[in-house]
Amino acid sequence: MRIVMIGSGYVGLVSGACLADFGHQVVCVDKDAGKVARLKGGEIPIYEPGLDELVERNVAAGRLSFSTELAEPVEQADVVFIAVGTPARRGDGHADLSYVYAAAAEMAPSLRGFTVVVTKSTVPVGTGDEVERILREHNPDAEVAVASNPEFLREGAAIQDFKRPDRIVIGIEDDRARPVMEEVYRPLYLNHSPILFTGRRTSELIKYAANAFLAMKITFINEVADLCEQVGADVQQVARGIGLDNRIGSKFLHAGPGYGGSCFPKDTLALVKTAEDAGTPIRLVEATVAVNDTRKRAMGRKVIAACGGSVRGRKVAVLGLTFKPNTDDMRDAPSLAVIQALEDGGAQVCAFDPEGMAAARPLLPGTEFANSPYEAAKDAVALVIVTEWDAFRALDLQKLRGVMAGDVLVDLRNIYRPEAVTAAGFTYTGIGRAVQPIAEELSVAAE
Ligand code: NAD
Repeated sequence: MRIVMIGSGYVGLVSGACLADFGHQVVCVDKDAGKVARLKGGEIPIYEPGLDELVERNVAAGRLSFSTELAEPVEQADVVFIAVGTPARRGDGHADLSYVYAAAAEMAPSLRGFTVVVTKSTVPVGTGDEVERILREHNPDAEVAVASNPEFLREGAAIQDFKRPDRIVIGIEDDRARPVMEEVYRPLYLNHSPILFTGRRTSELIKYAANAFLAMKITFINEVADLCEQVGADVQQVARGIGLDNRIGSKFLHAGPGYGGSCFPKDTLALVKTAEDAGTPIRLVEATVAVNDTRKRAMGRKVIAACGGSVRGRKVAVLGLTFKPNTDDMRDAPSLAVIQALEDGGAQVCAFDPEGMAAARPLLPGTEFANSPYEAAKDAVALVIVTEWDAFRALDLQKLRGVMAGDVLVDLRNIYRPEAVTAAGFTYTGIGRAVQPIAEELSVAAE
């Protein structure tokens, strides 16, 4: 099958490379000439485990190529995916669909024969209708079916998620698209991955409902963590205690500094706006957005409180900048708000991240960057763990304490056992953890 992927960012590049690996002939198109030049030169513009090898293998096999030119690949395509960005529109929080609509207008004149155009970008309900209208306006004779196929991959585990998805959702209004999409995902169909065909609007909404639900789950446990701190309970054990209930499940119950990243913040906001416009406000998601927004900055205040109420003129080390481990993505990362709050409080922040520093530098002009956790910690009064990279899980705590000027360790991801940190001479602050050691372990017999 001949496939064009418009947009070669996180989703487009991973999806394009995986579809090529399924045996399809894929051209990844991007209007960013610099990005395409790097891809053609064998350089992967993002950090995603396994992606370099996957791209290299499929380019070498002649199944995957890159281009800035849309016309020729679209002329030959059976399927054209739109995987461009849909950021929050400045000012009102609606999804900015200008890139999606531009891609539709650009490809329309080149459509030849029956083609399925698929929105893989996360787009609000009704976007597929508008894409179809644009295609017909620019090419009234086009034989085209517009489908929705939202992407659920997670950065950091993107290839695994694409190749072994929990489900594939495909929204269609034209039955001719169904066998074409079945063919696109044939290897996954043979693997028994559930493929859910729905109407186009339903498919569009499934993506937002899924992200909003996950964001709500995180926000719920974050608020429970705050309560734990006030009443002497331990959120880790509360999360385990409720997560063992199959109806709840243990995932997305890790208390932390608030969700960030390229999807949850903008998608929750966009869903709120869609619901408002439809006259059915979605209060739980509104509350989630509001709680999460205030939480990130509150984490900065938490660090300042752990330092005795002031960080003015003092050095604070921050470990982890990306919004989660195994990515270099800094979009809406909680670290940005935490560091801003610390710098507003007069601290000099020195940060280290295994992969995110290049992307972080322009966003954090007042921050220093170190080459290792130990260099970041040198002469700092406090050490703050913001992102739970594996590399931070087994630090030499004695060595860290030895190079620091103070003894404060704030673990915003609860990756350390408080006793281990205290034994190394630190004063430990976690998220939602009881100050007193808990005597009783929850029984694991229920497992
Ligand atoms: P991105 O910003 O990394 O990539 C988008 C790419 O599209 C850019 O390289 C840009 O140059 C290109 N582009 C924009 N307009 C174009 C045009 N007209 N022609 C060709 N190229 C064009 O974005 P992303 O993170 O890959 O996200 C893409 C979509 O997928 C968004 O809707 C997002 O919400 C959704 N999504 C993202 C993730 C994720 O983890 N990043 C997961 C699921 C869904």
